[in-house]
Amino acid sequence: MTDSILHRPLSELTDISFSCDCGHTHSIQIGTLAVGPGASSRVAETAKACAPRRILLVADVHTFDVLGSRVLEQLKGAGLDADAYVFPDSHLHPDASAVGRLFLEASDEKAGYSLLIAVGSGVLNDITRLVSGRLGLPYYIVCTAPSMDGYAGSSSPIVCRGTKLSFYSHYADAIFADTEILSRAPREMIAAGFGDVLGKYTALADWELGERERGEYRCALISDFMRGALETCAASAEGVAARDPAAVGHLTEALILSGMAMGLAGVTRPASGCEHHIAHYCDIDAVANHRDYPLHGASVGVAELAMLRFYEFARRDGLTDLETPSADEVRALLLKVGAPVRPDEIGISKELFSRAIREAMNLRPQYSMLRHVAAAGKLDTYADAVVKELCD
Ligand SMILES: [Zn+2]
Ligand SMILES: [Zn+2]
Repeated sequence: MTDSILHRPLSELTDISFSCDCGHTHSIQIGTLAVGPGASSRVAETAKACAPRRILLVADVHTFDVLGSRVLEQLKGAGLDADAYVFPDSHLHPDASAVGRLFLEASDEKAGYSLLIAVGSGVLNDITRLVSGRLGLPYYIVCTAPSMDGYAGSSSPIVCRGTKLSFYSHYADAIFADTEILSRAPREMIAAGFGDVLGKYTALADWELGERERGEYRCALISDFMRGALETCAASAEGVAARDPAAVGHLTEALILSGMAMGLAGVTRPASGCEHHIAHYCDIDAVANHRDYPLHGASVGVAELAMLRFYEFARRDGLTDLETPSADEVRALLLKVGAPVRPDEIGISKELFSRAIREAMNLRPQYSMLRHVAAAGKLDTYADAVVKELCD
């Protein structure tokens, strides 16, 4: 029974709640999930159903050009009262200043906004989620790139206080992912999304490792749900590389399901493990040193290659029998879609990558392959081998 719930098409996985064999009740609270060709033409009809007083559409100069202006016309054409706030930055950062700027616009009492609609990808989604949450308003996200797995999440990573902090907020009330638009996104953004999804190989393995070694809570149903989306996405590498909308749809579904899997499980485990800890460590180091950091999924993909090698070494040395694909198989997939496979391709130095592998486990309490290897006294040996392979 519970099995069949998660086998429904994505568009039907909205407001559901069920008690699971794992002993937990899993629920999702997203109102509308529209993924497919033409999905962005459904924004106005969805907004109309909730009768908003006035809508604020949020975009930046690029996303307004690509899709935002069309969505604004669509809203006005449907008789809805809507304004746009377009960030003028050519490279918008998800920082406290951007949050503050949007807050000033969105909280304007005279305007009386009652719904925010973000048109963009990770940065605009994170900023709009946080601001709408603080204002107690619903928000929609109309995606412009399949670049990361935060669309269906509930937290926003924001650069603030000299580091990168996660602010817990709320879910989008509607997600529109138009595969015709997404398949025309910049290549590096599509490749980053693909890297973020492939990172789930070690995230899921780490989750099982945590259960075995520390008796941590794990739901096999959600793990299988995530793995299914991951395998479908991995099998679509060729189509993703060719920008085939159906293949980009598989990638987008896997990204959205990642956020949902975390929400269902109530832990980040299904979508984030040692590979995300390393990527996060590198981001924090960049912020602390006033450097720009790479696209999230690009660093996750590179870190994934290091951590898959760790799993291979650990199997060879009898530290685990958990199965993962080899680093070579995953490297071939990343190369197929044009994703980076070396730290120096994304501005991560050998020194930083080496330090990240050795120290990233201290950022998060979860048991991971990094902690497992450290406990066995092998961290330096494995790190040296991986850094030599990926950085020399
Ligand atoms: Zn469960
Ligand atoms: Zn991610």
